[in-house]
Amino acid sequence: MPASPAKTREVRDGIVQVYLPLPMKPTIINVYLIRSGQAWTLIDTGMNTDDSAAAFRAALDDLDIVPTAVTRLVATHHHVDHYGSSAPYRSLTHAEVYLHPLEEERARAMGHIGGENTAYLRSHGVPEVPPDRQLPPPSRFFGTWYSPAVPDHLLADEDEVPLGDGRSLRVIWTPGHTPGHCCLLLEPDGVLFVGDHLLPKITPHVGLWPNGPENPLGDFLASHEKIQRCEARLVCPAHGPIYEDHRRRARQLIDFHRVRKLTMLELIRRRPMTGYEVALEAFAIAPDDRFQVMAATVETLAHLELLRLEGRALRTEQDGVVRYRGK
Ligand SMILES: [Zn+2]
Repeated sequence: MPASPAKTREVRDGIVQVYLPLPMKPTIINVYLIRSGQAWTLIDTGMNTDDSAAAFRAALDDLDIVPTAVTRLVATHHHVDHYGSSAPYRSLTHAEVYLHPLEEERARAMGHIGGENTAYLRSHGVPEVPPDRQLPPPSRFFGTWYSPAVPDHLLADEDEVPLGDGRSLRVIWTPGHTPGHCCLLLEPDGVLFVGDHLLPKITPHVGLWPNGPENPLGDFLASHEKIQRCEARLVCPAHGPIYEDHRRRARQLIDFHRVRKLTMLELIRRRPMTGYEVALEAFAIAPDDRFQVMAATVETLAHLELLRLEGRALRTEQDGVVRYRGK
């Protein structure tokens, strides 16, 4: 008999971590099952790949959970690894789906996003490439891996989602990585599900996008101040191991971005630079890797815009090209 693909671990009584495979880095996402009486709540879904679906079904089998016992599906944000299987899992389980409205908007928009925003990248100094080297639209890149449900309930900051049997999830809106990202505090257990907001080993992508919030890094840092005000005993991240001290990790991440921001400020004090030029110096990126270039540039822009809003940098535009200069 083939080995079961299920990989699960009981974190606490009635709280199970399920490892689901991803076809790209990071290669695993942790989703979580929480028991309340006979019912289960699923936090995040994994991507809609055959491997991930098989691992999820095997996990339910191993835990003796019939799919219809999963009555709630609460997502931290709309990204493909967190929400990609929400539509098929809702069909499978008949669970009610919860998501923040800003994430619903983005989940819906994902199917209509064109290829790379060449004009935006060009305005920040990114060299143009021929169409066959440009980034594909997400709908083509992800295809059926992204199958988002239309949520039944929209999450709001400070909402209390009762799970039954004395347990509830408190919603802590933590914009930054995405505008409607939410952490979820299981009470009375004091277990904090942090999605991508508070990863133990890496910092999530925070980028400045046209039509997005004007200060995403400022939002992200404010969300780290905010999360420190909640009382939690255990932190359950979407990637990497479970850990204990959310305040310490939040302070580390705030510090990490402060240092990165100062590194960039030093660069633009020497001469005015585009976001792309700063990205090349601040990140170890391969200039031929279009995805890396795009991600590093918009992440750099998030730092430069925060410097500008803090009054420490100036933004100038000449011949359609934006440059930043440090004060
Ligand atoms: Zn994410």
